[in-house]
Amino acid sequence: MALGDTTAIHQFSCLDDNFGVLIHDSESGTTVAVDVPEASAYASALEETGWTLTHILITHHHWDHVEGLGDLKTSTGATVIGPARSRMKIPEIDRTVEDGDTVHCGPYKIDAISTPGHTLDQISWHLPDIGVAHTGDTLFSLGCGRVFEGDMEMMWSSLSKLLRKLPDETRIYCGHEYTADNAKFALTIEPDNAELQKRAAEVEDLRAAGKSTLPTSMKLEKATNPFLRAGEASVAAALGMDGKNAEEVFAEIRTRKDNA
Ligand code: ZN
Ligand code: FE
Repeated sequence: MALGDTTAIHQFSCLDDNFGVLIHDSESGTTVAVDVPEASAYASALEETGWTLTHILITHHHWDHVEGLGDLKTSTGATVIGPARSRMKIPEIDRTVEDGDTVHCGPYKIDAISTPGHTLDQISWHLPDIGVAHTGDTLFSLGCGRVFEGDMEMMWSSLSKLLRKLPDETRIYCGHEYTADNAKFALTIEPDNAELQKRAAEVEDLRAAGKSTLPTSMKLEKATNPFLRAGEASVAAALGMDGKNAEEVFAEIRTRKDNA
């Protein structure tokens, strides 16, 4: 059986607007968590699914991604894999990765893609064999993370890297349910983008029904996410920035969002 057929993914809310994610392979019994905002939410999710946690991947050092890590590691004994850059900040890390490293968790081959900007340590995790990625606080649906530790150039270069490395069909998971707010902002940048209008309406329906808007796909984000679209001539034109390069357009969009 193909790995995709034996894989199940469980996503659930943590804290106010963070996500917990569990990736499970029924054949090997491998279960991988990405980030631990809250240990109790993970404990409930593991009990509900009956899965035994084997690995924890960390995207970055912010408290809302590692707050529950110590407790979850203690209660499960799972192996923690995280950014080398944050080894000192996250004492629970057993194994560190740098850009381009590949780790194996049971049957899963997982690529570490360094995507700094929001923080310097940020890693996006890519599981190419099942077409799944977790982009932490770098890429959100219809948005991107605030640029805290890096600069605009770094963040644009990280988003460009995701554009290059993640195929269109990739299902994208991320750190936060910010999509409804992001949709409102995105429409101020590209009010006439029909795909964006459609996605914004869908997001409104999903949220009204109490459902999550994630995962999204790279294909959908390429068509609708203004931050990924900074290189499109139509976006530069909409901002009165004809002839400016993608990085300058990205910086303008990010600055507008920061001040929105
Ligand atoms: Zn963060
Ligand atoms: Fe966060």
